[in-house]
Amino acid sequence: MSFAYKIKGYNWDAVKSAILAKTADDVRRALYTDIRTYNDLLALLSPAAEPFIEDMAQQAHRTTLRRFGKIIQMYAPLYVSNKCVNSCLYCGFNRTNKIDRKTLTEKEVMQEAETIYNLGFRHILLVSGEAPKDVPVSYFCRIAQSLNNLFSSISIEIYPMDTEEYKSLIQSGVDGLTVYQETYNRTTYQQVHPAGKKSDYKWRLMTPDRGGTAGFRRLNIGTLLGLSDWRVEGAFTGLHAIYLMRQYWQSLVSISFPRLRPATGGYEPEYPVNDSALAQLICAFRLLLPDAGLVISTREPEQLRNNLMPLGITQMSAGSRTSPGGYSLEAHADNQFEISDIRSPEDVARMITSSGYEPVWKDWDKAFLEG
Ligand code: SF4
Repeated sequence: MSFAYKIKGYNWDAVKSAILAKTADDVRRALYTDIRTYNDLLALLSPAAEPFIEDMAQQAHRTTLRRFGKIIQMYAPLYVSNKCVNSCLYCGFNRTNKIDRKTLTEKEVMQEAETIYNLGFRHILLVSGEAPKDVPVSYFCRIAQSLNNLFSSISIEIYPMDTEEYKSLIQSGVDGLTVYQETYNRTTYQQVHPAGKKSDYKWRLMTPDRGGTAGFRRLNIGTLLGLSDWRVEGAFTGLHAIYLMRQYWQSLVSISFPRLRPATGGYEPEYPVNDSALAQLICAFRLLLPDAGLVISTREPEQLRNNLMPLGITQMSAGSRTSPGGYSLEAHADNQFEISDIRSPEDVARMITSSGYEPVWKDWDKAFLEG
């Protein structure tokens, strides 16, 4: 059964009502049971769980220590193009925004990559707008083949592709796929994606399935927090993550928690997510999915990132630039959104170490697959 089929059994308003109906007893049960279910997730996301956030945080912390130890995996995004055929209302790369557009040449990509490598990173995330004419699959395959010499893990956060295209990227050395549904609410999805290929909800929803079928070792999903009710988005993301973990058990499933940031176009989130809600969301996911990677990016401010880290975070970006050429080129293009944590990778690593954790720059080697 595909996820597109499975999700049909879940109505947005009914899920919201189920969350709002949860009681303190439901939350206690969810907190102290050994094996948690989707229904427990609803309890942990509910307003009834708010008085239990401290308990959730302590349990989430203990669970993370048991499963992952005190390590934080570091990664950096490399933006290769800010051209885009879509018009997502919340994004600086929206095709209607008058910004400086740029697609990096393969030589420029390598220059950026070497700068990122020299900062210490061995895991890299290639990011681009949806511009298949400017950055076709063959472009990413060539880049990945060159990056293999520098990086032990290459992930992509680019436009959705079909399974065969994903297979060719995997053969070229890409091992991770990040694709956010942005919002599982169909009505909101259509409103904020009014034009372009991205307005196809189902095509996007099925992307992690195509990635899992193709064989990506890492699958990363999430929603863009602020577009809709975070509690219900959390429930649907949890449903999706459970499905992916069962269906593509060979892949490591991770969840990201990106909150909307200021960007060209001036989109204002209709459902702002405050810090406490973000913490509740992260704890709820750690308790539901002890084995999932949980990712927090430089969208979040320094102090908050420090505080969220022990709750269940396993991966952090640092020193990110969100424009093509932003690391090393003088003439870099406009960015996708403003980052918040502007610390250097070295400073973030120092914070991690001083918290008693270990920053891990490399936790994987392609040689493992040959072994
Ligand atoms: S979110 Fe992605 S697809 Fe949408 S406008 Fe931005 S870069 Fe393009």
